[in-house]
Amino acid sequence: MVETSPWIWLSAPIASLACAVLVHELGHALGATAGGRRVQRLVFGVGRPTWVLRRRRPALLVRPLLPLGGACVTDDGRSRAARWPIALELAAGALANAAIGALLWWATARTSSAWCGWLAWGQLVVAIAQLLPLRFGRGEHRLVTDGWRLLEVLRAGPGGARDSVGVSAST
Ligand SMILES: [Zn+2]
Repeated sequence: MVETSPWIWLSAPIASLACAVLVHELGHALGATAGGRRVQRLVFGVGRPTWVLRRRRPALLVRPLLPLGGACVTDDGRSRAARWPIALELAAGALANAAIGALLWWATARTSSAWCGWLAWGQLVVAIAQLLPLRFGRGEHRLVTDGWRLLEVLRAGPGGARDSVGVSAST
């Protein structure tokens, strides 16, 4: 029975985080599209090798070795982007995790499935980790959460969200 197997303790956290990353990046893409921005590229996973599933916009790239990260690259075709569409795009990743996570909690309560519980846990972890406003490093190589970028975008003056054009979201 998979619920009691020790195997689940190794595979379930990785699988649930990978699913949460998928939901998270699709959420960003949905938020971006709703705000009138163009999704250039969706990337699932980090590192190499890279499988190109689709070259045309939106391009789909999969990095199968480490599925615990991703990116949603967007623009709106202008050099200075409006703030609210970017804020919507940034928030949509964690919102998608929260929505799917809530559904999975509900399903877990009804079915008592360990896998459902793990999948819900992954959604929650990614949503919270991305909403905390954290920054690691500085300059070109800095790593920031969606929460940090959301604060930056909301604090910026009119048209001041220029830095946010380009890679607008990553896990
Ligand atoms: Zn994100």
